[in-house]
Amino acid sequence: TSPAYDPNNIFAKILKGEIPSVKLYEDDDTLAFMDVMPQATGHLLVIPKTGSRNLLDADPAVLVKLIPVVQKLANAAKQAFEADGVFVAQFNEAAAGQTVYHLHFHVIPRHEGVPLKP
Ligand code: 5GP
Repeated sequence: TSPAYDPNNIFAKILKGEIPSVKLYEDDDTLAFMDVMPQATGHLLVIPKTGSRNLLDADPAVLVKLIPVVQKLANAAKQAFEADGVFVAQFNEAAAGQTVYHLHFHVIPRHEGVPLKP
C-alpha cells in the first residue's frame, strides 16, 4: 500500500492558488501547467485535481479523465514546438525518481539529436 496523500504538497498548493504557475489548460478535473525546471522547451505537467499520491493509488476513474488530456496536450505540444516526438512519463515513489507526491504526467517535446537538460 502507498503512504498517505499529503495535502500540503507543492502541486496541491498550485491547485489552491497558493503557489503561482503558468497554466496551460484547466477543466473541472484536470490542470496542466509548465514545469518550473523544464528538461526541454515546452516541458509541461498534467495533474488531476483530486489528491492521488501517484499512479499506484490513483482511482481508475480519475485516470479515465486525465489520460485524454495528457494525449491532447502531447499532440498540442508536439505541434506548437514542431517536435519530432513527445516523451510522456510519470514516476512512482522516490526510488523511481518521484519528488512531488501528487500524481503528475510529464509531457516533454523532443527533437531529434537534442538531449534532455539534466
Ligand atoms: P517528479 O516528481 O516526477 O520527479 O517531478 C516533479 C516535477 O515538478 C519536476 O520536473 C520539477 O521541476 C517540477 N516542479 C517542482 N516544483 C515545482 C513548482 O513549484 N512549480 C512547477 N511548475 N513545477 C515544479
